[in-house]
Amino acid sequence: MRSFLYQRATDPNMAVQLLSAAAAADDPLTQAAAQPLAGGTTLIDLMKLDVMRPTAIVDINPLAQGWSAIETGGESLRLGALAKMSDVAAHSEIERNYPVIANSLKLAASAQLRNMATLGGNVMQRTRCSYFRDISYENCNKRNPGSGCAAMDGVNRMHAVLGTSDRCIATYPGDLAQALIALDAAVEITGKSGSRSIAFAELHKPPGTTPEIETTLQPGELISAFSIPGRWPRSVYLKARDRQSYEFALSSAAVALDLQDGVIRDARVAIGGVATVPWRARETEALLKSQKFDDGLAERAADAAFADAKARQHNGFKIALGKRVVARALAQAATMEIRS
Ligand SMILES: Cc1cc2nc3c(=O)[nH]c(=O)nc-3n(C[C@H](O)[C@H](O)[C@H](O)COP(=O)(O)OP(=O)(O)OC[C@H]3O[C@@H](n4cnc5c(N)ncnc54)[C@H](O)[C@@H]3O)c2cc1C
Ligand code: SF4
Repeated sequence: MRSFLYQRATDPNMAVQLLSAAAAADDPLTQAAAQPLAGGTTLIDLMKLDVMRPTAIVDINPLAQGWSAIETGGESLRLGALAKMSDVAAHSEIERNYPVIANSLKLAASAQLRNMATLGGNVMQRTRCSYFRDISYENCNKRNPGSGCAAMDGVNRMHAVLGTSDRCIATYPGDLAQALIALDAAVEITGKSGSRSIAFAELHKPPGTTPEIETTLQPGELISAFSIPGRWPRSVYLKARDRQSYEFALSSAAVALDLQDGVIRDARVAIGGVATVPWRARETEALLKSQKFDDGLAERAADAAFADAKARQHNGFKIALGKRVVARALAQAATMEIRS
């Protein structure tokens, strides 16, 4: 491992100052010379692999007292960025009113990782593309801009079918992000000039011509919290993976329905494991609204989610699999028992 400067930030201003001081002005946060350290379960791995080479680490764990709150009650939810995945997953009000969030976390990683890992770190984790994570491959536009993409004609079974570009076809790997995007979450961001809030849907950037720029965070900025409007007790997270023990999604769906007398008043659908960014399936949602739920409708709506999918040599199966996951998640949400 390379040597680096380790600093502990004792308040948000200090964290932002330390990160800004070490970051080069034009570095995207995910490549920056200075990286915030939360649970470390992704960052330290990538540093050991020499994929990420920060010269400075700013430990933000001392901010946990203010940034790990889980605020429930009323008609909204606010989650601190340093809340542990395991604490949020096991929170009784989140299990009752936002099961899509609780289940996306329970199905992510292993129990040990969830005890260590934070929500902010989870949404900022980097792709699991094996060519990205192995520096013996030169050709990776995300790691080494302009070098090409080894996955295009390589082993691309795990790669994306939606939101790809001719520069990068890597999937966004996390689970929580799909639940957040389906529920119209907002992200609170702390930076040099104070706080700002953006829609979670604006956080991740599709690869386009600059796959190395993965988020809209600026150097020195930190995620401090997520907020979710409304309550969604009729919501489901379904994940298909190669094995039942901890594993990343081949395909997943986050579904939230507002259903009255069998008719869908509102539908939220996001899909994971198949796209370069957390993917909101707007066409699917439009098809479902104001319709009476039945299995045929679920299948037509699932087809719509993949209408623009583009398969590579080894990942065509993800289109058929993804449609089934969406249709099954819709059926589960429509028929689930709501706890009062
Ligand atoms: C074996 C294994 C299996 C896994 N399986 C899954 C899975 O199935 N599903 C899934 O979703 N995840 C999975 N993960 C990923 C795991 O969930 C993430 O490693 C974890 O959530 C990251 O959180 P952390 O707090 O440890 O982040 P860190 O490793 O500390 O940080 C990750 C990145 O986010 C940045 N960061 C951290 N906090 C902030 C913040 N507040 N603001 C801005 N940037 C920040 C860091 O600088 C770093 O770049 C798996 C990981 C492993 C090792
Ligand atoms: S898919 Fe993206 S991350 Fe993977 S090798 Fe190609 S450019 Fe790199």
